[in-house]
Parts: sequence; C-alpha cells; structure tokens
Amino acid sequence: MRAVVVSGEGSAAAMVADEVVRQGGRAILLREGPRSCALRQPGGIEVVASRLIAVKGVPGSMLAVLEDGELECSSVVIVNDLHISSPRPPAEPLRNLFRTLPAGTVVLDLRGGPDRGGRAQALRAAIAMLDEGSEVVVLTDEVLAYGRDELLYRQAQRDGAMFIRPGSLEWSGDLLKIADAVTGDVISVRPTAVLSESEVEEHLADQGTVSMGPSATLRRGVLRVRANLLDDELATEARAAATLALRPPSPLHPAEVDETQCSACLTCVRICPFSAPYMNGSGKASVDPGRCRACGKCVAACAGKAITIQGSTDQELDARIMAAMEGR
Ligand code: SF4
Ligand code: SF4
Repeated sequence: MRAVVVSGEGSAAAMVADEVVRQGGRAILLREGPRSCALRQPGGIEVVASRLIAVKGVPGSMLAVLEDGELECSSVVIVNDLHISSPRPPAEPLRNLFRTLPAGTVVLDLRGGPDRGGRAQALRAAIAMLDEGSEVVVLTDEVLAYGRDELLYRQAQRDGAMFIRPGSLEWSGDLLKIADAVTGDVISVRPTAVLSESEVEEHLADQGTVSMGPSATLRRGVLRVRANLLDDELATEARAAATLALRPPSPLHPAEVDETQCSACLTCVRICPFSAPYMNGSGKASVDPGRCRACGKCVAACAGKAITIQGSTDQELDARIMAAMEGR
C-alpha cells in the first residue's frame, strides 16, 4: 500500500491524512514531539512524533528524512501557512501582518510558494511597507511573472524593494547573510521581521510557485497544502493532495549533463523553471532528478549541447515522428 507522509500541525494536516486513508492509502502524520514514537490513531492514521528535515528520491520511491530516522514513502504532503517571524518571535499568520508589523527592514520570503493571490497580497504589503519607510528584501525563486503580478513586481521594484534569488541564507545572531544565486553577491541585513511562507528546512522551503497550482511544489513528489484556507477550500485541497500523493506521475527521464561538454556558462541554472540544475563540486552543471520535469528548456538553451533527456534527442524525436506518420 502506498504510504504518504503528511507533515503539519492542526486540523488541516489531519484532514489530508484522513483523505489519504479514505482513498485507500497509508497515512503517516508527523507531529513534533519530544522523541520519535509511532502510534496508530482511530481511522488508520499512523502518527510519528518527529520533524521533517528533508525529502529524497522521486515520486513513488521517496525517503522522508526525519530528525531521528527515515521513512519510506511514495509522496510527502506539507501542510503549512505563511508565517511571520522576527529573529524568532511567535509565528503569526500573514493576515495579521498588515496591522502589527513595525517599520524597519523586512525580509519577505516568497520561495515557499504562496499561491497567486497570496503572492499578490504579499507584494501589496511590501509596497505599503516601502511607503511607510521600511526597507524590503524579497527572496524569490519565481522567474515568471505576468499580467497583474508583473505590474506588482515592477511597482515594488520601482519603490525600492530588492529582489534576490538566494543561493544560501546564513544567520549569524540577528544578522542575515544572503548569497545571490545568480550573481554570487552576498548582502547582509539585520531584519526587524522575516515573513516566511514556510517553517520547514531551508532546502525544503524552495517549493511551489504561483504558476503550478495550489498543491504542486518544485520538488516532484512533495505537495503542499495551505493551512489558512476556508473549510470548503481546505477540503478540496486536501482531497486533491491525497489524490496526487497516491498517484504519483509516471517516472520522467530527467535531463543529464555531459560534463565534458559543459562550459559552466550557468545558462541552465538561470533558466530552469524548477531550479533543477546546479553547479557541482567539479564546477560543472548537474541536474537534480527530483526536481527536473524534463521540460527540455535547458536542452534547447545549452550552447555546448551538453544536456540531453533520454528519449528526446533530435534523432529519437525524428524517429518517433516518422513512425507516427507511417502509422507504425
Ligand atoms: S547551459 Fe550547458 S554549458 Fe552552460 S552550464 Fe548548463 S550544461 Fe553547462
Ligand atoms: S529539462 Fe526543464 S526541468 Fe529539467 S533541468 Fe532542464 S529546464 Fe529544468
């Protein structure tokens, strides 16, 4: 039976776990606790008292890495909310932010993927903060903005917001060092508040973009459900998440890089909509198979023809087209 790990507090996470069981799956609900233990809840949900640290693998064959162990599963669902934290004051949902945020330097972390409405709301809040004299740094991995969103991005940028696609974040006391993934520049800020979509670990927080719907994230096999939804919306999202989690998409062949052809130009790293390519220890590009959706964008853009996707070379595509035309 397929196991789905659900990470999150409150009734929203329980609702997702319930849906997984109702749809015939095995639900493992993570609850933070003093030490790991497994209990079986009425309704067939297994509860494990531990915290999700990372996720490895691809849909259908994943490992949820916990603080004190690992769980095999086919998918992971993270249930969370947009939080404010300021070198760790109590978390508050974003909707309270508009009344309570003091002026200062605000870091708005949108990498956790608020949906389109949430992102627009956060950008409007950023514009209002800039108006009131705050400095605003927006962390984002969103590379596509269009329509209304693009106007909001532009206005925030015109008003002085700094947009960064971070490669790494490092706290030193109350000083936050942000390395720009594209330019390599490091900026240091002393935030008076940090608004974060997610409280999960750094490498899990870069999930979900507005362009991929409410339950999709940048890592294949990891879905996200927002906790701050109205009951009806939550029920729909929980059902959708359980359905997707129990029926992972058929495996894709991820892009692969021939290091001997790679000139380390960074084009693939910049253009991938799913942040799959990265520079490895040898200074060449590699692709994280858990993120790659085999869209082919990097294959087309790589000047050195260093990237291929199995089954998608020109010759293979030509052969398939010919076969289809000849009715084979
Ligand atoms: S686009 Fe091609 S040459 Fe450039 S870094 Fe990526 S794989 Fe290497
Ligand atoms: S094929 Fe698409 S998803 Fe995969 S690494 Fe290239 S650009 Fe990213």
